[in-house]
Amino acid sequence: MSEDSPPKKEVAAVKGTHDILPGEVEKWQALERLARETFELYGYRELRAPVFEATELFEKGTGQTSDVVTKEMYTFTDKGGRSLTLRPEYTPSVARAIIEHRLDLQARPMRFYYMGPMFRYDRPQKGRYRQFHQIDVEVFGEQDPACDAELIGMADHLLRRLGVTDKEILVNSVGCRACRPAYSQALREEAGKRTAELCPDCRRKAETNPLRIFDCKVEACQSAARSFPEIQGFLCAECRDHFTEVLSLLGLYGIPIRVDPKLVRGLDYYTKTTFEFVSSGLGAQSALLGGGRYDDMMKDFGGPDICGNGFAIGMERLLSVVSLPLPERRLLYVAYLGGAAKRTAVELARFFREEGVECLVEFKDRGMKAHFGRANKLEASWVLVVGEDEIRKGRFGLKEMATGRQVEGTREELLGSLRG
Ligand SMILES: [Zn+2]
Ligand SMILES: [Zn+2]
Repeated sequence: MSEDSPPKKEVAAVKGTHDILPGEVEKWQALERLARETFELYGYRELRAPVFEATELFEKGTGQTSDVVTKEMYTFTDKGGRSLTLRPEYTPSVARAIIEHRLDLQARPMRFYYMGPMFRYDRPQKGRYRQFHQIDVEVFGEQDPACDAELIGMADHLLRRLGVTDKEILVNSVGCRACRPAYSQALREEAGKRTAELCPDCRRKAETNPLRIFDCKVEACQSAARSFPEIQGFLCAECRDHFTEVLSLLGLYGIPIRVDPKLVRGLDYYTKTTFEFVSSGLGAQSALLGGGRYDDMMKDFGGPDICGNGFAIGMERLLSVVSLPLPERRLLYVAYLGGAAKRTAVELARFFREEGVECLVEFKDRGMKAHFGRANKLEASWVLVVGEDEIRKGRFGLKEMATGRQVEGTREELLGSLRG
């Protein structure tokens, strides 16, 4: 497209989406790099699934898919008449990939991570987007409580590398299908006695899923929930032993945690361990990262009976509390005078880039003063001067912008100064 013909009508980014421009994208790249490096240290590997899937995958009620998520899905019919959905979460895609490629027949456990965009037709508000980004980590086929502790330890490792110091780790067990029904019943009875204190939403939840009352943000509901029975008294022997072992192993990682009996994460599919990393860096204390174990999800999904365990991080939110140092750029700007020098400039740039030096040649004809002005604007670290004299001698002038120091030499000699 020519610079002279701007688009006829201005088209803005779709509501709830955002551009990540240079200057900001470096923080994203740093987060992605640190996450990848950290997870790989623990033997996790990346699994990239498509951004859209058959709608029914997300309607089956797997993963975090609740009624809410289903209502917020970006669903469309393609030209072949198929109903497709932009993924609102990641777990169903991984489950599908495992079943489709029979990864469950390979050595277990399977440790995966993923980062990328998810889509929900949510009401956009501050810090919430319709295209948002998540880092997800999942382990399949590992029953051992050491796996739960490893995930929490790894998440903590990543947050330490990101410089998040203001955080608290909450851990709980939500029991299993054998022991949770009795707890739900006890909660239902208690909530039934105290409906007057609950909001209309929680009164409904008291009937359908009383554990979700713990997630309500209404102060009166939170206050009532504080005196509700705690799950620990209801755990079966297996769940209790599992939880005791998770806590004991977390000691090995030297990670201070707090057992929060109210941390139920409100979602039906969690079993045994749940955890959250909360931070007050966002004002009110809120979750940076959450996860847990989901032993029955794959089976419910129609797949093999293998257990799952994992966590998810909202990247937008995490980036709003960390201050990652931007990478130091060392740009070499090549200033040339005239057509012949331009050819030499292009050759020199090629030489320096092959040697690992970030190098820029602009193709607009400029005088030397204009070149230096431009180099300043680009915050170049050095300017290489290429004129007729320099070309004839095969020796070029290099100016360090911060100090004004100038050296002269062949391109090979100058490499030393550029690297020093
Ligand atoms: Zn149990
Ligand atoms: Zn409520």
